[in-house]
Amino acid sequence: MIKWLTENGVNFKLGYRVTDLNFKDSGDTMFVDRIQYVKDEIHQQIQLKEDDLVLVTIGSMTADSSLGSMHSAPKLITDKKDGSWKLWENIAKVSPEFGRPFVFDSRVGESKWESFTVTFQGDTFFSLMEQFSGNAAGTGGLVTFKDSNWLMSVVLAYQPNFIDQPENITVFWAMDCFRITRGTSSIKNG
Ligand SMILES: Cc1cc2nc3c(=O)[nH]c(=O)nc-3n(C[C@H](O)[C@H](O)[C@H](O)COP(=O)(O)OP(=O)(O)OC[C@H]3O[C@@H](n4cnc5c(N)ncnc54)[C@H](O)[C@@H]3O)c2cc1C
Repeated sequence: MIKWLTENGVNFKLGYRVTDLNFKDSGDTMFVDRIQYVKDEIHQQIQLKEDDLVLVTIGSMTADSSLGSMHSAPKLITDKKDGSWKLWENIAKVSPEFGRPFVFDSRVGESKWESFTVTFQGDTFFSLMEQFSGNAAGTGGLVTFKDSNWLMSVVLAYQPNFIDQPENITVFWAMDCFRITRGTSSIKNG
């Protein structure tokens, strides 16, 4: 996708952290006038023209994400090192129109999301799931184990899922759906 977009004139700039936006109030509408950013620890800004269009990602489910391992749980990062929530907090100070980020980012432990990937030798789990749901891998939706107290949910993608995935290996992705959308089917005592 990056290759296609670059070929079509998109200029990706990496390593820029947007810290704030400056607004111009023209009575009934507010315009973004300047973008404040940090690049190589130097604070800089971009002055915008009147017909520039600014699209901003405010907050992100992957902000401050961390990886676990086979032996340790991922660390919970609560001090918002990542810029996306800070940016939203800064914008929200300007006007109530920009929402209330604190509703979402003030209790990270309660709003965090966890996901993981399971790698199997063989296809036993995939066969059992196919018998249960009637869906071959890649044709069904997200399945939630409704009696799991964190609503563990699995997604069985078409196999092989990865380029060069060995033939006898199956891989599925799973997540905690306690705080997000519930799945479409369920397993009792799963
Ligand atoms: C583990 C996982 C699996 C998923 N699987 C699927 C799936 O199978 N199918 C599906 O449809 N969706 C899936 N999603 C959801 C999907 O990835 C997101 O909905 C989508 O990426 C959101 O796109 P976005 O452009 O809004 O934000 P993002 O992809 O989060 O992009 C935002 C970008 O902005 C950057 N950014 C944030 N703040 C700043 C700042 N202050 N300054 C500069 N840059 C900043 C971030 O670094 C990031 O690169 C999954 C998400 C996760 C976490």
